[in-house]
Amino acid sequence: MSVVPKSLAKDFGHRPDLVAHLAPWQSRAHIGAEKGPPMTIVFDNSYARDLPGTYLRLAPDPAPNPRLLVFNQQLADRLGLTLDGEQATRWFSGASLPPGADPIAQAYAGHQFGGFSPQLGDGRAHLLGEILAPDGQRFDLQLKGSGRTPFSRGGDGKAAIGPMLREYLISEAMAALGVPTTRSLAVVATGEDVWRDTKLPGAVLTRVAASHLRVGTFQFFAARGDKAQLKALADYAIARHDPDLLRATNPTLAFLDAVIDRQVRLIAEWMGLGFIHGVMNTDNMAISGETIDYGPCAFMEGYGPGTVFSSIDHQGRYAYANQPVILGWNLARLAETLVPLIDPDPDRAVDLASSLLDGIAGRYRNAWLALMRRKLGLAGEDAGDAALADDLMTAMVGADWTLTFHRLGTPAALRPLFEDFTAMEAWLPRWRARTGEGTGGHMAKANPAVIPRNHEVEAALTAATAGDMAPFEALLTAIREPFVEREAFMLPAPSAFGSYVTYCGT
Ligand code: AMP
Ligand code: MG
Repeated sequence: MSVVPKSLAKDFGHRPDLVAHLAPWQSRAHIGAEKGPPMTIVFDNSYARDLPGTYLRLAPDPAPNPRLLVFNQQLADRLGLTLDGEQATRWFSGASLPPGADPIAQAYAGHQFGGFSPQLGDGRAHLLGEILAPDGQRFDLQLKGSGRTPFSRGGDGKAAIGPMLREYLISEAMAALGVPTTRSLAVVATGEDVWRDTKLPGAVLTRVAASHLRVGTFQFFAARGDKAQLKALADYAIARHDPDLLRATNPTLAFLDAVIDRQVRLIAEWMGLGFIHGVMNTDNMAISGETIDYGPCAFMEGYGPGTVFSSIDHQGRYAYANQPVILGWNLARLAETLVPLIDPDPDRAVDLASSLLDGIAGRYRNAWLALMRRKLGLAGEDAGDAALADDLMTAMVGADWTLTFHRLGTPAALRPLFEDFTAMEAWLPRWRARTGEGTGGHMAKANPAVIPRNHEVEAALTAATAGDMAPFEALLTAIREPFVEREAFMLPAPSAFGSYVTYCGT
């Protein structure tokens, strides 16, 4: 087998230094593999098997002194994994490889803040392989922060404890809130320092995902005009995520429709929770419909449609209220890649794709309205519901997003959340007239008491970086039961916390 798959070799042709690195990295995969009795992770690596030429095979960096910081037993149980702490520490830090792992870095491209990068790829992640849960569901097991790859560009391939624990925490919160998301199995400190603005302890996150196929994966091959590889990728994606569609009249078009459906529902869920992803680049949009890549994301406290946390999002491209717009923009980029597969007649292919794209705004609006009906406890459908929901948005500007919904039924508790309660006071009787009595139970399940509040997250990560995991553990317990009222985790940041900024390059 050639070291560099053919379709990638041409991209690295101008970087002989990278290609030269591939040989030792490749061999390390074998040196690291443990021999011995059959272990508890059984891999079935379909991506590596079925899609040669879409990845580079190379081993993670071995962590010099791994120490397990957090292990997700709930998730391990769901996946049917039984591991002792020592195995988990070694395998989920890259210190050694579980038998059957076939570590690869996946190629992908992407629009970052609107500008196209034809080659991104896993610059600090290694897909160990896929496992089948007891219910037959297939999951990727990926190490993140596990060393440089030919896709690293200027980066060090590493990650610090703080951002990896942050992904663990926020993705677990999303899972507990019922939002489709990648999950986190473990964070292991590597015993190695990484340099950011300052020296920080390094860590590796083990991410579990329905797959790591992104809009950007399709863009990588579309941009190269590699129709054969694009077709192989689409066939693979359909077989993996939408096997029923293999029998559709036009499987590619049906697949686009299915991805639109998943993403529309996902972004509606984010909006309902006041979640701001922060980097909705096309490489961070998963075909599976899971939330992926928790970088500068955060939950909004005071409602403002233009809220942005990311330090690098100067234009507000990924601001709260712009997320549904970017949803459509990103899906249009996916549709463009699929056009050659939709119909041999390009005009017809574009027409078919366009009619799906034209429907996105309406589909999103419907998904949002359905979600708002749940959050407001509105039974059935009424012609006035859209106006009721829209007017709430206007009335609650500035008030804490999470608590406003959580306390909607108790005006005395609601009032202190508002600087000016006038508009809300006018809105409440309209809502009560619509709901009548007895909506509380349903609403409680749609309106969490606890979200990961930014000041709590920061405090937990700061303590963890300094070696104290107790605040992280306490916050994790709270966010795992978001509908349970835990006073200490429900309150907005004290004003001294100031306006929150999150950072990329994490
Ligand atoms: P992200 O912003 O995390 O979605 O990453 C965008 C691109 O940058 C991907 O190709 C990542 O693999 C790469 N990247 C991010 N951080 C690093 C790092 N520390 N070292 C190497 N590559 C990185
Ligand atoms: Mg990414």
